Amino acid sequence: MQAFFSDDQLLHDPQQYMRVGRICKPADLPTRAEALMATLAARGIAVSAPPDAGRAALEQVHSTDYLDYLETAFERWRKVESFGLEPGIEVLPNMSPHGPRVGPCPSPSVLAQTGWYVGDLSCPIGPNTWRSVLRSAHAALAAAEAVLDGGSIAYALCRPSGHHAQRARAAGFCYVNNSAIAAATLRRRHARVAVLDIDAHHGDGTQQIFYERGDVLTISTHANPAGYYPWYTGYSHERGNGEGEGFNLNLPLAHGSGNAEFAQALDQATAAIERFQPQALVLPLGFDTYKDDPISVLKFDMEAFRLAGERVRALGLPTVVVQEGGYMVGAIGAALDAFLEGLRA
Ligand SMILES: [Zn+2]
Repeated sequence: MQAFFSDDQLLHDPQQYMRVGRICKPADLPTRAEALMATLAARGIAVSAPPDAGRAALEQVHSTDYLDYLETAFERWRKVESFGLEPGIEVLPNMSPHGPRVGPCPSPSVLAQTGWYVGDLSCPIGPNTWRSVLRSAHAALAAAEAVLDGGSIAYALCRPSGHHAQRARAAGFCYVNNSAIAAATLRRRHARVAVLDIDAHHGDGTQQIFYERGDVLTISTHANPAGYYPWYTGYSHERGNGEGEGFNLNLPLAHGSGNAEFAQALDQATAAIERFQPQALVLPLGFDTYKDDPISVLKFDMEAFRLAGERVRALGLPTVVVQEGGYMVGAIGAALDAFLEGLRA
């Protein structure tokens, strides 16, 4: 199995994250990636730095104006002066648009654009965020290209994560949608690609990107969003639109669900994948379903991750595994190990 990661992905070091009206220490720490790297090393899996491929692969799923914003926001922010106030240490929105965000932001101001393109207060943009985001996307791109070149499975150690990033909006610690980039890259050669997201949170960005397409089946199993991030999407009635009608499947789990409920959701997901008959699979993999994760409302143990690996292996599809969430630094290495054990990778 090939694995991809760039040390530049450690540079993003967010300082602020608002929860219940409080500025807190962020959960997406660079040490997450180090814990996952240790597991790969212990299993003898070589990790390659992905080639620096610029922005082209990101433009498959994100708008040019949004990527322009992400790339330039921090440098422009530093020059902001607002009625005698100097800007804070990171770019964060203090407004949101009054209606739908359609097309580029009508204002050239970085303040207005931050409200336009940043969907919540978990996505601060610091001096190195763009570099880490770009390199995280390159890891997903390289893993997809490894599979296109004949590999049966490849792992992209993406950090920052991506599955909450929409076509033109950052949210939920995510800036660029690595899993969607992997799926779009696989579509270069394969007519049908399935995405099976098993992070604790609904893969809302991936859903939005492919919602009107019938060539990419998006499936997400996650904690019921009625009481959990991302709140507004992830419900079972969201089935796709237009040509995408019937090609989006949400499998929300009741809070407190454990391995047995997860296994049932995997049964439904794998049945839908087999009906769709894709030529390749993308697996956005999160470990924030783990019972002791600091932001978990589910009760999975390590056996759930081993089971997920087994099910993916049983599908027998060329597969790109893309790392998403998982915030218990002391457990995510073991969780990845259990998943790879099930996968026999
Ligand atoms: Zn998550």
